[in-house]
Amino acid sequence: MPKLAQRMSRAKPSTIMLIAEKARQLKAEGRDIISFSIGVPNFLPGPHVYEAVRDWLDKDSGSYGSNRGSADLLDAFLEHMKGSGMDGYTREHCAVAIGAKHILYDLAEALLDDGDEIAFPTPYWTSYLDIAEILDAKVKLLPCPPEQNYKLTPAQLDEALASKPKIFLFNNPSNPTGMVYTKDEIAALADVLVKHPDTWIITDDIYNRMVFDDVGYHNFVHSRPELRERVIFVDSLSKTYGMPGWRVGLMAGPVDVAKAVVTLNSNHITNIPEVASVAAVAALSGPQDVPTGKCAEFAKRRDVVVDILNSIPGVVCPRPQGAFYAFPDISCAFGKRHDGTLLENDVDVCTALMEAKGVACVPGSAFGEPRGLRISYSCKSEELEPGMNRIAEFFAELT
Ligand code: PMP
Repeated sequence: MPKLAQRMSRAKPSTIMLIAEKARQLKAEGRDIISFSIGVPNFLPGPHVYEAVRDWLDKDSGSYGSNRGSADLLDAFLEHMKGSGMDGYTREHCAVAIGAKHILYDLAEALLDDGDEIAFPTPYWTSYLDIAEILDAKVKLLPCPPEQNYKLTPAQLDEALASKPKIFLFNNPSNPTGMVYTKDEIAALADVLVKHPDTWIITDDIYNRMVFDDVGYHNFVHSRPELRERVIFVDSLSKTYGMPGWRVGLMAGPVDVAKAVVTLNSNHITNIPEVASVAAVAALSGPQDVPTGKCAEFAKRRDVVVDILNSIPGVVCPRPQGAFYAFPDISCAFGKRHDGTLLENDVDVCTALMEAKGVACVPGSAFGEPRGLRISYSCKSEELEPGMNRIAEFFAELT
C-alpha cells in the first residue's frame, strides 16, 4: 500500500472545528446549546454587496482571473488600507488569496526553508502552529501569560529575535485574547524589530477595524517606516464584513514577497472566484455602516462578558479591546469538582460546561495557554447574557 506523505502525520484537524462540530451535534439531538466556540461574525454584509454580486452574475464571463487579484480589488484594498494609516503601497505590493489563512500558509511556504524557525506569542491563533507543523518549521513560542495581559514585551521580543528566526508572526487585535496593542506598545516593539534585520515580520491584523475604546489600530510601519522592507500586513474580509465564507484574504508588503504569493497562487488556485472578488470590492469601497455598527455592538458585548467573568470569584479576564473574543484565566477551577466530576484542566472544564450547562467554549490549550478558555461572543445577542450567566452558575456550583 502506498503511504501518505510524512507531513500529513503532523497535520491535525482544527480543535476549534471539532468543538463547534460537537456543539452542532448536541444541538441536533435537541439539547439547548449556546455556542461561544467558533469565531464566526454572525452578521451579513450590507445589501450593496449582494447587489454588486447580482449585477456581476449577469455579465461574468466565467473566465480565469489574475493570479494577483483583480485590479479593482487591489485598488479597493489600497484605498481601504489608507483608512488604517497604511499608505504608500501600490498594486505590486499586494496579493489576494482564499482567505487570510491561505495567505498565511502561502507566506510560510514562501519564506521558510527546511529547518527555519518561526516565532510567535502565546496564546496564538491555532492555525499558526498547525501550518508551521505541516511545513516542519521550528517553532519558538513566546509566552504571554494573563499577568502581562497576554501581551509581548520588548525585552521578550529582543531575546527571541537574538536567535534570528526567519519569521516573527504577530497578531493584533488578538485571536484568542482580544487584546490590542497601544500606539506606544507598538512603537516599543518596532524599536526592537529594527535591531534585528534578519527576520521577516508578519502582522496578521485581520481584526484591525474591530478596535474599541479609541485605542486605534497601530502597525510597526507606522512608528518605524523603515520596517516596510520586512513587514507583511495581512488582512481579510471574513470578520470585519461578515463574509467568512466568501474567502477573501489580502496582503501588502515587500514587492518580492507579494510576487511569491502570486507565483504560489498561479500554481495552487489561479485566482479567487471573480464573484467573491466583486463582493469584496463592494464591501471595501461601499458604505461602511455594517462594520462600524458591528464594532460598536461588539464593544458593548465585551462589557457584558468581561463584567460577568470578573464577577466570578477566582476568574480573571484581562479586558479585551478588539475582535470578539475574551480569554479568562479559569485555572481557579482546576482540582475542583462539578457534580462530582473532577476538573483537572481546561479540557475537563470545557467538557463539563458543555455537558452540564450546554455552553460551548474552546479550551485554552488549543491556543497554547491551558489556564484559559476562549469565549467568542459573536453569538446571537439574545444568547449572550443567558450563556454568560450559565458560565457563572457553573463556577458557583464547583466544590
Ligand atoms: N488570522 C486570525 C487571527 C484569525 O482569527 C483568522 C480566522 N479565525 C484568520 C487569520 C483566518 O481568516 P480567513 O477567514 O480570512 O481565512
